Amino acid sequence: MVRYSVITDKNPREIVLLRGFGCAWKKCTFCDYHLDCSPDAAANLALNRTALAQVTGQYGRLEVINSGSFCELDADTMAEVERVCQAQGIHDLHFECHWMHRREIPALRVRFAGLGVRVHIKIGVETFDRTYREGVLHKGIGVSDPAEIAADFDECCLLFGLSGQTADSMRRDIQTGLAHFDRVCVNIMVENTTPVKPDPAVIQIFCREIAPAYLDDPRVDILMENTDFGVGGAEQ
Ligand code: SF4
Repeated sequence: MVRYSVITDKNPREIVLLRGFGCAWKKCTFCDYHLDCSPDAAANLALNRTALAQVTGQYGRLEVINSGSFCELDADTMAEVERVCQAQGIHDLHFECHWMHRREIPALRVRFAGLGVRVHIKIGVETFDRTYREGVLHKGIGVSDPAEIAADFDECCLLFGLSGQTADSMRRDIQTGLAHFDRVCVNIMVENTTPVKPDPAVIQIFCREIAPAYLDDPRVDILMENTDFGVGGAEQ
């Protein structure tokens, strides 16, 4: 699997897909990428070192993802992330985190601030429609107020291309995301091993009526495929 890439257009940054102990939530109905995990800390560290060794610091920005939350990375991998940030002059570091771990975020910010690194935390919200999010997607965010969701986080992911979504609902989700977060990442649902299927008609509506307004917005990433950031696909 490709575990290192460079994003050159919006918010240019390097990105690494690391492997952790596994998502502690694992209940999102659309997700199978939490399967990229191992209980073997030594094996994870070896794999993660290989990915992190490719970081050059060319933009001073690094995104670390691990098919779960940052706190599911082993301690030695986190130490390695710290070392690489210092060695390669990383000043902005992005991690992902589930709502359930939000109380662990302040300590992470303090830890990296001590190294002169600003941490940005991304949460997968998928939609601000709580009924859909919790009833259909089982996301595990038990509050409705977007401001409350955003309180500990800097960026959010949205998931579009699902049956029941409309131009209005998708537009509203992006606008809400931009009102409460620094950046929004729109992921379009792709076929995977879960029973949740992409809805081609909804994807078409997104491409025709929503995407054009945000293609040049530096605060909005749009991933038509979940490998569009360059990681997660098979090695060539
Ligand atoms: S929190 Fe993220 S990794 Fe875990 S099941 Fe949900 S989408 Fe998948």
